[in-house]
Amino acid sequence: VVKNPGETEFHQAVREVLESIKPVVELYPEFEKDGILERLTEPERQIIFRVPWVDDQGNVHVNRGYRIEFNSALGPYKGGLRFHPTVYPGIMKFLAFEQTFKNALTGRPIGGAKGGSDFDPKGKSDSEVMRFCQSFMTELYRHIGAQTDIPAGDIGVGNREIGYLFGQYKRITNRFEAGTLTGKGVDWGGSLARTEATGYGLVYFVEEMLKDVGETFEGKKIVVSGSGNVAIYTAQKVVELGGKVIALSDSDGMVYDPEGIDLNSVIEIKEKRRGRIVEYLKTHPSAEYNDNSKNIWKIECDIAFPCATQNEIDIEEAKTLVNNGVLVVAEGANMPCTPEAIECFQKNNVMFAPAKAANAGGVATSALEMTQNSMWESWSFEEVDKKLREIMKNIYSSIKTTAEEYKKDGDLVFGANVTAFLKVARAMMDQGIV
Ligand code: NDP
Repeated sequence: VVKNPGETEFHQAVREVLESIKPVVELYPEFEKDGILERLTEPERQIIFRVPWVDDQGNVHVNRGYRIEFNSALGPYKGGLRFHPTVYPGIMKFLAFEQTFKNALTGRPIGGAKGGSDFDPKGKSDSEVMRFCQSFMTELYRHIGAQTDIPAGDIGVGNREIGYLFGQYKRITNRFEAGTLTGKGVDWGGSLARTEATGYGLVYFVEEMLKDVGETFEGKKIVVSGSGNVAIYTAQKVVELGGKVIALSDSDGMVYDPEGIDLNSVIEIKEKRRGRIVEYLKTHPSAEYNDNSKNIWKIECDIAFPCATQNEIDIEEAKTLVNNGVLVVAEGANMPCTPEAIECFQKNNVMFAPAKAANAGGVATSALEMTQNSMWESWSFEEVDKKLREIMKNIYSSIKTTAEEYKKDGDLVFGANVTAFLKVARAMMDQGIV
């Protein structure tokens, strides 16, 4: 706390992991001797830089850019970029810390990082976004590379932004290094199924959890928060597997459509037009709108997928979900549930899937994109999707087994933290005190 004042989200993420791995750390004194915990909680490198840009009216703006290269024990740094006005070191560091563990769970050779800016893409023209991205990359380019650090998208950074960032990287370096960024357009080095991967992977993960209790998605009522990349493709896969998505949200409010949300309309509004979820009512007047996004958790459902942002489910929302008989809560966003909410789910026998395992399909598919880039190949949608499904199954079975080994059956939070920790910690010990 003294070292990292005011970084609430970072403290929250570190505390959750440290508490969870305590029994394991106590079993192996060598971790303490090697200073593993101290090293694991201190980023290897933190880069903070000025991002000046000019808007369409000729006014100068200055934003702050970040890249937190947290841990490279398992491979080059890898993690997304977030453009959102709430970005500050506490959020960047929590995301980079979590990414280290998530990447370990994918089984791919990737370390953990995160970056971004307090720039708000909302309401900006394409040219403004382009100029911002070019300015951002003009500093970032010297820190990244296929063998060093490979950024990707996150909140506010989608295909458009990755395109502008890649274009500027190529221009400055005079190299078409496809492996430097992931989430690229499929015609210029991107992977098919990357857009869908986080959402699809999340649903594949929950499918495995449901199988264990003899259940499927068929006929289930599902609530998904957000209406961005993760939310949309979670909803799409749920519907394909027979579930009914009855609510979605954005930062302004939520829509409830008991008949089942028409996803094509949402894609048209949010993905194609960058509009607001309230516009759904124009074409679906019988749906209900509420201007408090958090009210989405008051809707009775069998499965809840928080896919918007951190800390969107606190104890109050958790209690409501439990009282309404929720069966599964699976985190699509990073750290959307507070520790109190998670405790509430676990105490009430709600099956709970933690983000670092359940939403790892996106970064795992980014790693598949890197593999394709290094082989100068592009695989079919079906091939990537099949690999993604396998990866999610493996993550589920490995963290479940770890939980069982330590007599914590069904505690996937423990399973995910310990599986990932042991992998990263052992690699760090092999590589000496660095
Ligand atoms: P997007 O920018 O595509 O979408 C974010 C969505 O969440 C938007 O609909 C946004 O609404 C909504 N939102 C933001 N804040 C709130 C809020 N306070 N209340 C309700 N809705 C809100 O981002 P992604 O879908 O990519 O990311 C969502 C989450 O998933 C993040 O936590 C991210 O870190 C995580 N994640 C993403 C991965 C990926 O591959 N994209 C991989 C793994 C994790 P609005 O339109 O109003 O801004």
